[in-house]
Amino acid sequence: MQYHRNLYINGIWQTSASTQTIDVLNPANGELCAQTASANETDVDAAISAAKNAFPAWSITSAKQRSDFIIAIADEMQQRAAEFTDVITMTMGCPSSLSLDIQVQGAIDAFRAYADMTTYMDHTENSHGALQLHAPVGVCVFINPWNYPLSQLIGKLGAAMATGCTVVAKPAEQTPLQDLILADIFDKVGVPAGVFNVITGFGATIGERLCSHPDVDMVSFTGSTAAGIKVAQAASTTVKRVCQELGGKSPFIITEDADLTAAVRYGVEDVMINSGQTCCALTRMLIPENLYQQAIQIAKVAAEEIVVGDPLDPDVTMGPLSSRQQQQRVLTYIKLGIEEGAQLVTGGVTLPENLQQGAFVMPTIFAQVSNDMLIAREEVFGPVLCLIPYSDTQHAIQIANDTVYGLSSGVFAKDQPSAIQIARQIRAGQCYIQGSYFNSNAPFGGFKQSGNGREWGIPGLREFIEVQTMVLG
Ligand code: NAD
Repeated sequence: MQYHRNLYINGIWQTSASTQTIDVLNPANGELCAQTASANETDVDAAISAAKNAFPAWSITSAKQRSDFIIAIADEMQQRAAEFTDVITMTMGCPSSLSLDIQVQGAIDAFRAYADMTTYMDHTENSHGALQLHAPVGVCVFINPWNYPLSQLIGKLGAAMATGCTVVAKPAEQTPLQDLILADIFDKVGVPAGVFNVITGFGATIGERLCSHPDVDMVSFTGSTAAGIKVAQAASTTVKRVCQELGGKSPFIITEDADLTAAVRYGVEDVMINSGQTCCALTRMLIPENLYQQAIQIAKVAAEEIVVGDPLDPDVTMGPLSSRQQQQRVLTYIKLGIEEGAQLVTGGVTLPENLQQGAFVMPTIFAQVSNDMLIAREEVFGPVLCLIPYSDTQHAIQIANDTVYGLSSGVFAKDQPSAIQIARQIRAGQCYIQGSYFNSNAPFGGFKQSGNGREWGIPGLREFIEVQTMVLG
């Protein structure tokens, strides 16, 4: 059991102005595993004031200084990789056999890579009588969800550190611990006070203040579309830059000439990893009609190979969902799918006896899904895959684009060029070609209601930059 009543503000662990606390539960067994402060608006104001005061000096540090800090932090993160892994497994249920790989190591490597990007701030362009310079955007608020809590923080923080912005980070209430470890690392490495501040709290309590505060220049939010809309509304009165990484219902087109077994197995793995709690999960698998029955059988076998259970068991490949609330939400969608007339191929709402204590959901596959069913239209955010038949390629593209979302997509065709040709017609920010995986050097972000802006890579860095122009006389 961990107790964290302090917040990291202005380089000091300070007692929260609020006496309220947040209980953090282990979703594998429902037990209390940590308690944090539930910050209030006084804490928000203190953290933003610290970030504002730190900005003038931090924003003019050299690329080399910021790069050295990033490397020193990455080194410390590496030393504490096992600790990050343990707290993420404990608070959101990702199996320990996977946590290091998919939750932690990629985030550490990605953070280290930002050390090479600090020089981007020194780029200038002199043309048509104007000199263009790069300036950091300023004080940034980060609001993150619980599904990849370290990675989602790093995608924002790496860019802020590289560009010279200062930060107030608010982790999801369910997964606060990795942010607190990172604050400890910043403290140890000696990053100037106020550059990175962490406050733990409920979005519903302090979100509005964080996003509307006049001294904040940018809000970078990852989470649900519903909360993202509230964030943008709160930020609008002071005309902040708002970056939104929101939900998705991403399509995966498998063509007739693709390797069907490889494609279907990849698609099942893609959805089921992290118990289906991945915003870019390819949850609508589009399959040629003549291969549909065969694909159903391959998908069923692949889903039934997944070992669901205690995330600390090394043989387990799928842990619980992040909370009982999330479990209930997903089970409600599974019931809805059955009511809507989809065919339950495997999984469903019944749990084996040994999984009753935690927030578990069995890997679930629906066939005979039409794209107008709610299970094909709304983000379930659990281990639920819809198999949808299509008649020809244009029909597949039409189904793929028939969604309010546009975060991700996938195409598995006979080869890369034919897959890219189809992918170009899908309205989504990313496309996974021929069974590829998340790449933290590749810009990530949504079209349509999946968000605004990009994270990762140089486009992710640019979100934190203002272009300042010297009009030359
Ligand atoms: P959520 O929107 O409920 O919460 C996300 C964060 O927002 C939490 O820190 C929460 O405290 C905060 N929050 C909630 N209401 C707020 C408000 N009114 N003002 C300010 N902050 C507020 O989402 P969740 O359930 O934690 O996460 C799941 C969702 O996140 C899914 O929809 C998923 O697709 C999305 N997601 C998107 C990406 C992406 O990069 N596009 C990545 C991961 C998750």
